Formats: sequence, C-alpha cells, structure tokens
Amino acid sequence: MSNVSKIMEERFIKEKSESIEIKWYSTPHKDFANYSCDGSSYRSYARDAADDPDASGFDPYAYRYYNHYEDAFWGIGGAPSRCDEFADSAIFAINNGYYATAHQRFGYSSHYLSDVGLPFHSKGATDYLGGFVDALFNAAIHNTYESHVSSNWSTGYNFKSYVSGNTQKITVTNPEQAVEDNADYSAQYYDYIKNKMTTSSTWRTDITLNYYTAQCVQKTARYNHGLYDYIML
Ligand SMILES: [Zn+2]
Repeated sequence: MSNVSKIMEERFIKEKSESIEIKWYSTPHKDFANYSCDGSSYRSYARDAADDPDASGFDPYAYRYYNHYEDAFWGIGGAPSRCDEFADSAIFAINNGYYATAHQRFGYSSHYLSDVGLPFHSKGATDYLGGFVDALFNAAIHNTYESHVSSNWSTGYNFKSYVSGNTQKITVTNPEQAVEDNADYSAQYYDYIKNKMTTSSTWRTDITLNYYTAQCVQKTARYNHGLYDYIML
C-alpha cells in the first residue's frame, strides 16, 4: 500500500472504533421500505421491520454477513434468497388477509434488496477464488463509506430525497433476480468509490463519488417500489 493508503486506512480504523455499536444504516433501510408502500396505512410495519435483519441472531450466525451480500461478479451471497424467502412469506400473509404481517415481511425482504444497492455489498468481499470473506466485508472503509451515506441522508447531499421523492419503479417479477440486478448496478461504482476514498483526503466532497452514490440510492428505491407491488398487487 502507498503511504496515503496506509494513512487513510488507519483513519478508517480509528473512525470505526469510535462509531462502534452505532447502527448507521438503520434509517436508510426504514426509508426504503416506508416510501415503497404507496402510502399504505400499514407502512409503519414495513418501516419498523426494515432494519431488523442487521440485529445479531436474525440471520444464522455463519451467514450474519454473507446474507447481506451479493457479489456481482461471482454471483455468491445470501441476499437474493433471503429477499425471496421473505417476499414469499409476505405473499402468503397477504393472501390470508394478514396485512400487518405482510408489511413486516416486506420490510425484511426489502432489507436484503436494499443492502446490495450499496457497492460494498456487491463487490470487494471475496478472495481470488470467489469465496466470501467476513473480514473483507467488514473492512473499515466499508463502515466509513456507509457512515458518509448516513450523515448525508437527510442533510448535506440529502440522499434520502432520492427515496422520498421517487415516483418510479422497476418491475419485479422475481425477487432473487431483482437483488442480482441491483447488485450488478451498484458494483460498477465500487472501484471508483474505493479508489477515491483511499487516495483522496477530500473524497467526502467528491462530486462523482456522491453522484454515483445518489444513483445507487435512486435505483434501490425503484427496485423497492417494484418489490412492494410484486408482493401486494
Ligand atoms: Zn444488512
């Protein structure tokens, strides 16, 4: 690593230890789910459930991180099947008239679809044979990037506006495929974002990095809307 990279990595590690225990991505998850519900009076069930899958114990221990990932290149990760599983469960609930449960399960399903919309959930966590590595996924830079998204969610770059103001949807006919497609979309920005973060001390205000991030957020909002309609309509 270059000296600049070393300094940056040390800084990320320091920031990570300071922000430990903070659920930085809780609010974005809630917003992706909430704003997909076409204003349904049950939307609070989706909103309140959407961040639950990050709690320890929600996914089987060995899949704690794997299930929140889908590698665009290798096609490995548990997010597509988890999204699909909860979408099926939501459809079962809606077919039986359990609207609150259906929205809660949509919230869970939405979590896995939304996770892969961020580039650190679709690239960079595999070894050279395509095996998932927890430590790569949990690299300090990943946490730092998501903290940046979180601190610019409803202020600064206001990424939330791409969710709350979204009026479009991408039609979903197969939740697994939707997760894979959203991962393919976000992964294209991984290299730029990672390189910028490790080589520039002013990456937080880099126009391109923030533009790419906004594109990912917008795409994820549209997929979420498609997932909601796939389940409920
Ligand atoms: Zn997650």
